[in-house]
Amino acid sequence: MKILVTVKRVVDYNVKIRVKPDGSGVELANVKMSMNPFDEISVEEALRLKEAGKATEVVVVSIGPAKAEETLRTGLAMGADRAILVETDAAVEPLAVAKILKGVVDAEQPSLVIVGKQAIDDDSNQTGQMLSALLGWSQGTFASKVELGADKATVTREVDGGLQTIDIKLPAVVTTDLRLNEPRYASLPNIMKAKKKPLDKKTPADFGVDITPRLTVLKTEEPAGRKAGIKVGSVAELVDKLKNEAGVL
Ligand code: AMP
Repeated sequence: MKILVTVKRVVDYNVKIRVKPDGSGVELANVKMSMNPFDEISVEEALRLKEAGKATEVVVVSIGPAKAEETLRTGLAMGADRAILVETDAAVEPLAVAKILKGVVDAEQPSLVIVGKQAIDDDSNQTGQMLSALLGWSQGTFASKVELGADKATVTREVDGGLQTIDIKLPAVVTTDLRLNEPRYASLPNIMKAKKKPLDKKTPADFGVDITPRLTVLKTEEPAGRKAGIKVGSVAELVDKLKNEAGVL
């Protein structure tokens, strides 16, 4: 069974985001970029399924600039077998990403596609769901546990107030949540080996997908700074302030 894993190159989660002075977006020049954290969890899950003998091949795919090759090499260093880079310098919105991924799925015929639940740069939480709709496949979103059978997957989902367990028919799309696993680090020898693993290059046009944006970003703003806190002298003063100043009691 082949597993396709999507990996997006995003601003590293440790970086303090700065908005461009003209409000047109987020500053990306000279900023550390890494694999989207949910996608690291996806790669880890696919590798564990392969190590458990449930899958035979793990293919990582990314849509992005030439530098997204680094992100794919990270996936290969973790243990993926092959990589596909769909190269474009344009910012690609989730619908276009899902359409390109559908093209990759049509060519690769995986039984399972593992997608992060959300990219930490656009926070869309749309790609996996759109891909499953375009393919007409079942989906198990926000997975915190995945068990693979011959023709079905049992997925435990993180839902409001608890966990929901569902059976979905394969082929399927699963999106990963934080508690699914803890991704491994790539060892130095594996980083070296990853340089020699196969990486195919494509373009959105190869899949006949028009990536022209459908959304217009009106402005991007920093969140308002938090006001400094104060120390109160007694419980009575705290209750008084909550009642009469904050108006929350
Ligand atoms: P989003 O719907 O944008 O929040 O992204 C959800 C997930 O879709 C991410 O965690 C990735 O697994 C996948 N994804 C989104 N954009 C890309 C991209 N450009 N290349 C590869 N995977 C992507």
